[in-house]
Amino acid sequence: MPTKEEKNNRTEQLRQIRDEVINLKESPLYKTRVKPVIGEGDHCAKIMFIGEAPGKNEAEQGRPFCGAAGKILDELLQCVGIERKDVYVTNILKDRPPNNRDPYPEEIALYAPFLERQIAIIQPRVIATLGRFAMTYILEKFNIIQDPILISAAHGKVFPITAEWGDMDIAVLYHPAVAVYNNKMRTALEEDFSVLAKYK
Ligand code: URA
Repeated sequence: MPTKEEKNNRTEQLRQIRDEVINLKESPLYKTRVKPVIGEGDHCAKIMFIGEAPGKNEAEQGRPFCGAAGKILDELLQCVGIERKDVYVTNILKDRPPNNRDPYPEEIALYAPFLERQIAIIQPRVIATLGRFAMTYILEKFNIIQDPILISAAHGKVFPITAEWGDMDIAVLYHPAVAVYNNKMRTALEEDFSVLAKYK
């Protein structure tokens, strides 16, 4: 359990990241920015969720996963008995790509260093990737894959790794948005999220 001083230290470092993202005027997404979405939750969380990029609602509110996909995320957390306030939620991109298009590789390269610093500050027990972009980025970063893999093959799997701060896991989950228009995916998502129960 981190001390009060360690908690304050993490908060200060995350504030620094927030300020840097706010000032990231060289980003191609800065021109269409409404609000940047840095991340939110417990700075000492054991579970850290990583999504793709903010959507319209997120960019309006400056909060990750607060729209339709966020509602599903909250319900899935409830299913597995985890409170949202106890986890940390962020995205690879901190600004919304216009019309919710997929992130470009150069955008991922620009924003990923902020994500990597967030991970190293929070030092979670498990990183739960939401969707294929977060999966690919994190599995490549931790040298778990060299070649592309399909999320349909990897979802629900947990990969143990040793990070600089100790042993941790990567859990590959479908993105909650897959259930927004396809209720059949709900069961697959619930099964994916069940792997998180042991990190509560
Ligand atoms: N989808 C994401 O990947 N992130 C969000 O914050 C919202 C929707």
